[in-house]
Amino acid sequence: MRIYISVDMEGISGVTRWQDVVASGQDYQRARSWMTADVNAAVTGARRAGATSFVVEENHGVEMLCNLLLDEIDPEVDVVRGLPRGGATTIAALDDTFDAMMLIGHHAAAGDVLGIGAHTVSYTDYKVVRCNGRPISEGEIFATYAASLGVPTALISGDDIVCERMATFVPGIEIAVVKRALSHEAGWIIPPVRAQRVIADAAERAVLSIEELALPQFPGPYSFEIELRKPLSDEALHAYETRFPEFTIVGDRTVTWQDDDMHLCYRRAAITSFLAASPKLVRRY
Ligand SMILES: [Zn+2]
Repeated sequence: MRIYISVDMEGISGVTRWQDVVASGQDYQRARSWMTADVNAAVTGARRAGATSFVVEENHGVEMLCNLLLDEIDPEVDVVRGLPRGGATTIAALDDTFDAMMLIGHHAAAGDVLGIGAHTVSYTDYKVVRCNGRPISEGEIFATYAASLGVPTALISGDDIVCERMATFVPGIEIAVVKRALSHEAGWIIPPVRAQRVIADAAERAVLSIEELALPQFPGPYSFEIELRKPLSDEALHAYETRFPEFTIVGDRTVTWQDDDMHLCYRRAAITSFLAASPKLVRRY
């Protein structure tokens, strides 16, 4: 049995504030170790239930998406890291050869009032990312794409806010709540060693119940709307108009598009911040 793991950092056990997930932070190097240990915990639990093959793909956009500690990760796990991966995506390795996806260390969505490190795709640039009229999280985007490949989303670990969000979106998903959010940068924390036991147990239950797990029902077409924190420059507006007509600009800071393919929508959501910041550099996505 083959498991795909998407790992982010904001929802890792012990991680509490933005400074924990950027290179300048006091605990960033510790958080890399906790991140690696949370992945190992999921692998350990899944293996107890019979999973045999694992690929983990890094989703945390700091240090060019190289945050796991390769000396500490389970040596039987393959790791996908760095950027770009053949386009604007952090789910490049996800395909229909996997029996299930697990989301480790994921975070709540932009617009969620609580949620440690809550954002969708861009922490600094996006006020909210809506899909079909409601704020959407990265985990929901990934689960929708996975479902289009026939791959169920079996487990999420993170704070109580993201776990509750995913439990609504994917009925039957196993959740590993490793902290309770008190705000975007405060929480009631379970220390990593104990949290990793919670993750391992949830991963074991997740693999044991894969057969009964339904795919999330979120059919396209998908209408995306990204509300930026700052207005687009004239240069960015010109780039959208002349080179990227698949996007529609509403007002001076809202970018919209529609498509049936969730992976393409995710790539558009990822490239929107680059188009806003450096429109000349963006050739394709
Ligand atoms: Zn992240």
